[in-house]
Amino acid sequence: MLNLAVLLEHTARELPERDAVVLGGTRLTYAQVDAQATRVAAALAARGIGPGDRVALSCPNLPYFPIVYYGILKSGATVVPLNVLLAEREITYHLQDSGAKAYFCFEGTDQLPMGKAGLAAFESVPDCEHFVLLTADPSGETSMTGVTTLTEFARDGLPGFETVQTSETDTAVVLYTSGTTGRPKGAELTHSNMVLNAQLATRLYAAAPHDVHLLALPLFHSFGQTVQLNAGFFSGATLVLLPRFEVAAALELMEREKVTLFAGVPTMYWALLSSPDADRFDLSGIAANLRIAISGGSALPMEVLKGFDERFGVPVLEGYGLSETCPIATFNRVDRPRKAGSIGLPAWGVEVRVTRRDGTEAEVDEPGEIRLRGHNVMKGYLGRPEATAEAIDPQGWFSTGDIGRRDADGYLYIIDRTKDLIIRGGFNVYPREVEEVLLTHPDVSLVAVVGVPHASHGEEVKAFVVRKPGATATEEDLVAWSKENMAGHKYPRLVECRESLPMNATGKVLKRELAALPAD
Ligand code: AMP
Repeated sequence: MLNLAVLLEHTARELPERDAVVLGGTRLTYAQVDAQATRVAAALAARGIGPGDRVALSCPNLPYFPIVYYGILKSGATVVPLNVLLAEREITYHLQDSGAKAYFCFEGTDQLPMGKAGLAAFESVPDCEHFVLLTADPSGETSMTGVTTLTEFARDGLPGFETVQTSETDTAVVLYTSGTTGRPKGAELTHSNMVLNAQLATRLYAAAPHDVHLLALPLFHSFGQTVQLNAGFFSGATLVLLPRFEVAAALELMEREKVTLFAGVPTMYWALLSSPDADRFDLSGIAANLRIAISGGSALPMEVLKGFDERFGVPVLEGYGLSETCPIATFNRVDRPRKAGSIGLPAWGVEVRVTRRDGTEAEVDEPGEIRLRGHNVMKGYLGRPEATAEAIDPQGWFSTGDIGRRDADGYLYIIDRTKDLIIRGGFNVYPREVEEVLLTHPDVSLVAVVGVPHASHGEEVKAFVVRKPGATATEEDLVAWSKENMAGHKYPRLVECRESLPMNATGKVLKRELAALPAD
């Protein structure tokens, strides 16, 4: 018997008075978060929701998130966290696809009226029986009419409720991901998948009992959820919530709350390094408390890694994984030599293969597809046996769709995603390699390389570049420079400078959106 909720419950018993979450002036102790989560669970149980049911949650990084997430787990039901940026139509799809019985949705703000979109989506899905509004005003007041607020919902709880025990192979969380192809699919992650990954995280970064995390990663995504929320609760850390990442706000919180652990996606590191806002802060004071910085979610460019090391004096540890693997699969752990540019070594209990197209093992340094097996691999995609069979072979190996290599010391490197590979005139071009070279140009701040259709070569290499403030290099200069610095089949003949690049909520550049643009 095992339930992911034990991570919170155990700490709430051992360290009841410790701050679990902080948001602005609001501080909630472990005992308070646990008690409120129990009220949510009791309210779900009173409505007959429990094991085998799924409950959706749309909520930014606010105290509501852990309270409702753990409340759903305590009830024995499965949590389905949704991306907060989904539009109404997409929410409808996720509610239908997951078969959610109830939906907790944050009211939102004028800029992001999530509550209205959520309610409209809920109303179009008859099988979803309960809509619970997480009001923007923490007192429970709202101008939305005809909705049940969390305060009202939690009023009628099952008396004497106790956490429902589940089996470790029951699904704890369903995380929606596009995987390597197609429409978003729900990765079913079991209690054991999630508990082991949270425990792994604490070991890999040597969690200290008084860690203070800056939680800027969206909690609906596996990176923030496992590495910070679940691992943080397991180790008794304080989570300082940042609902929207902004450099000044992040640095202010790091300073005020004496943050010891920061986890972010590469674009956050890039922003911390390139924003003029950073000059207003005493970075050495921040660095004195900061013990660990963790990067994942996409490739951390070498220039950014070096820049952060230099400016903050804190090494960035890079890890790798996917929603389907909870996410941690490999990591540059704190107690082993770090290799810059590498995603580290396989995590405990995780086997990694690098395979050729025919399934045979690649040699040292030879690129191949990364395959994973271990306690972190999902049960499957919810309601999609075919997609599951395509992703996980009968021996339990999960195909990641990422191309990587292993060096002679066993360290792994991601070269690119299979689907991002550009084939120009029959030659393979890995966009990431081109991006790494372009980032060494003194005027280049951010870059994304994609393949665009080309009449004779099939595809042409195109680079979208954001220049540093005051930069003078023109698009033609950048093409000429690339030609000098890269092999003939690799260098981008097309360079387009932009003010910014489109990114998703987890900070990944939306390459498919860029690739859809016609080559000029
Ligand atoms: P998601 O399921 O949204 O977490 O996306 C997983 C994908 O993110 C992986 O398949 C990789 O393509 C990419 N990814 C995650 N971590 C890294 C990393 N450290 N370096 C390069 N790509 C990464």
